[in-house]
Amino acid sequence: MKIEIDTNAGFCFGVVRAIKQAEESLQNNEALVCLGDIVHNEEEIARLQKKGLKTISLEELHQKNHKKVLIRAHGEPPERYFFARENQIELIDATCPIVLQLQQKIKTAWKEMEKENGQIVLFGKKNHAEIIGLNGQMDNRAIIVETFSDIEQIDFSKPVRLFSQTTKSVEDFKRLSEIIRKRSFECHNHDLIVYNTTCTSVSRRSKNLKDFAKKYDAIIFVSGRKSSNGRYLFEICKENNPNSFFISSIDELQKTWFINTQSVGITGATSTPQWLMQDIATTIRRIAKKTGRFL
Ligand code: SF4
Repeated sequence: MKIEIDTNAGFCFGVVRAIKQAEESLQNNEALVCLGDIVHNEEEIARLQKKGLKTISLEELHQKNHKKVLIRAHGEPPERYFFARENQIELIDATCPIVLQLQQKIKTAWKEMEKENGQIVLFGKKNHAEIIGLNGQMDNRAIIVETFSDIEQIDFSKPVRLFSQTTKSVEDFKRLSEIIRKRSFECHNHDLIVYNTTCTSVSRRSKNLKDFAKKYDAIIFVSGRKSSNGRYLFEICKENNPNSFFISSIDELQKTWFINTQSVGITGATSTPQWLMQDIATTIRRIAKKTGRFL
């Protein structure tokens, strides 16, 4: 059986950077907590926990006395920074530079929209940390479109500035912008600016993934269950290879998936560690050897 790992899979640069910052700080043996999961991958969280990184919720940040807090790649709204300053909490800010730029863009666009009685529309998941951080740049006044039915909250007769969460699908964002453009035209409103703010780390992956998924008899897609881009990228695998299986950890592998299988491709989300995909490849190799299917 041929087993190959997708060379394009693995952490995006924002996640690599955040983990590096966490590990550097942990090396000094100082207590470090992360506000929310550092990455949407349970296995990587467990690895960092062993090194001393603890995840805290927003309530815990407010209740307990933490000296040093890591802000993960998704970013946070301004009130977290005010809270830290007021409570002498040292922040290690690992917000991805791409997300930081997007926060600035939204802040500027909101100032303009306030003057023109316009609206900021964010395409993304309402409770996702990145969206909370982005909405916080404009006093939480954005219209958040999670499903297409949410567009009914938009007043199409008024100016609109449309942004996307970085990990959303480019195709869905395009579709959404076309619908909003059409509805705005119907109201004789031509004041719509679309900012394509999907991250190339995800969009580039989706193009390569289509070809990767078609090359193998079976695809093992490895991702944390909370990862937005994990779900999106897995759907691409499924569309291009119905024999695609989603797993979060090695124990979820099923021997029956490899019956009559000559080749297996292993891939994952932008939050899937390389070491986990390597471990999964080793386990599949072991299964193949036991069943005499190793080439
Ligand atoms: S997906 Fe893109 S924007 Fe999001 S953390 Fe990774 S590199 Fe940054």
